[in-house]
Amino acid sequence: MKNKKAVFSVIIVLTLICGLAYRNRNTVLKHESSEFLFDTVCSITAYSSAAQDKVAAAFDETARIHRLTDFFDENSDVSKINRAGAGEEVTVDIHTINIIELAQRIGTDSKGAFDITLAPVSELWDFKTDTPVPPDKASVADALELCGRDVLLTDKVKLTVTKAYDQTRIDLGGIAKGYAADAAAELLEKEGVDSAIIDFGGNIVVVGKNPKTSDGKWRIGLQTPFAQTGEYSKTVEITEGGAVTSGTYQRYFEYDGALYHHIINPETGYPAQQSYNSVTVCAPSAAAADALATAIFVLGEEEGKALAEKWGASVEFL
Ligand code: AMP
Ligand code: MG
Repeated sequence: MKNKKAVFSVIIVLTLICGLAYRNRNTVLKHESSEFLFDTVCSITAYSSAAQDKVAAAFDETARIHRLTDFFDENSDVSKINRAGAGEEVTVDIHTINIIELAQRIGTDSKGAFDITLAPVSELWDFKTDTPVPPDKASVADALELCGRDVLLTDKVKLTVTKAYDQTRIDLGGIAKGYAADAAAELLEKEGVDSAIIDFGGNIVVVGKNPKTSDGKWRIGLQTPFAQTGEYSKTVEITEGGAVTSGTYQRYFEYDGALYHHIINPETGYPAQQSYNSVTVCAPSAAAADALATAIFVLGEEEGKALAEKWGASVEFL
């Protein structure tokens, strides 16, 4: 009788231990947090204990990069460059130089489809007012005269940017979010976070393995263009790097029955006309994926796929 009781107790204890172990395997510790930066919702999910301070530090760095690259902030590096005259050496942060140099490489490889000097044109397209109107053709033609990618010199040692023409102005809106997502990921990794996913308005980058899947892969749903948020047409899998979507539905207005979106074809100064509504690029970094997604949207499927291949990236069109 005594023996039976002991065996029974051992079984109960073992069952409890197994139950707890099973529960721990499935309830991975995580810290999730969101902030509104870059005019969009930026979220970080870190699967790690005591990650709160690390995620807060990653957001501080994100906010700093936002301030450096904000076209509308007169104290940003971008505004300092835009105000400068030809030949003036403008001292900027290393992040600003990194972004401009990557943008110029992708600008060259995309034969100008990605062009950060499009600011004079992109600022004619106002998506924020209640009753947006497309700019007139003459203003777009005049603004296009001020654009061109081979007009900025960077110096990584002196930390300076120099323009060749007074009128050159830059807009880093097509690359800065992806770059900031990479910087946040790098900071989390340095702080010892083994596993995290960063999503800055569709600019995604991952750290380590996904603790929620048996193969460690991260599965990313590609939003159905113009559908409700959370409706996905396709899924891509990544194990590292970034996945970034550029889409017409992310910023647009309708006027006289036509749709005008925010991805500009530098050849025309008007929204790029394509048969698809979104381009998703998976690349070794979110910064490259961000610029490539914008460039590939403009280039079209054939040239876009060739550009993706050159950068070790994959691409999906929806
Ligand atoms: P994304 O959402 O990354 O595709 O970037 C779109 C944003 O980048 C726009 O809101 C503009 O600020 C800027 N942009 C638009 N067209 C281009 C282009 N062809 N090259 C570089 N930046 C662009
Ligand atoms: Mg982009």
